[in-house]
Amino acid sequence: MATRQIVPAAGGAGLRLARGEHLRIIDIEGGQTGDLMAFSQDGRERLSNGRTFDYGGKIYLSTGDVLWSDRSRPMLTIVEDGVGRHDFLYSSCSLEMYRIQYGVTGYHANCHDNLLSALRELGVEPDSLPTAFNFFMNVNVLPDGRLEFAPPRCRAGDSMVVRAEMDLAIALSSCPASTCNGGAPPRPIAYEIVTI
Ligand SMILES: [Zn+2]
Repeated sequence: MATRQIVPAAGGAGLRLARGEHLRIIDIEGGQTGDLMAFSQDGRERLSNGRTFDYGGKIYLSTGDVLWSDRSRPMLTIVEDGVGRHDFLYSSCSLEMYRIQYGVTGYHANCHDNLLSALRELGVEPDSLPTAFNFFMNVNVLPDGRLEFAPPRCRAGDSMVVRAEMDLAIALSSCPASTCNGGAPPRPIAYEIVTI
């Protein structure tokens, strides 16, 4: 039986996954998005949205699709998807983004800092972060190329499962940006490591 762990609202968490282990990510209350970052355990190989688009040939990923590394190796496979829409285009929200786009002064919780501190706790010190896999985040690409945020499709209890294709350091963040969460304040998400 897997133990359920909580990523606090607007906070982050780090975990290690061994090859073959499964990670379930659960939207507890509904409508909450988050960021997933993956590094090899030595920190030298990183998640790559560009390589994932290369080998998958699409930007909307779901069951059966693989998330690739910047060294062209499979990192994670989506083996179950109860939501069906995620984003892999947008950079994680950051302090600068809240300042530039929303005029926030002072500190604002953000996925970039959440992911960095979670990775540091795992002993991974990245120079910079690649684009995170933004699970449950619903972004439409319009015919003229503009991007449109839509409310997340996830409802309370919905989840997705990824399988590790190599030993990984994983960071998760519960996104504080209300734009990504259908206008709602941030809420916690949960995860379970399942050995099948
Ligand atoms: Zn965010």
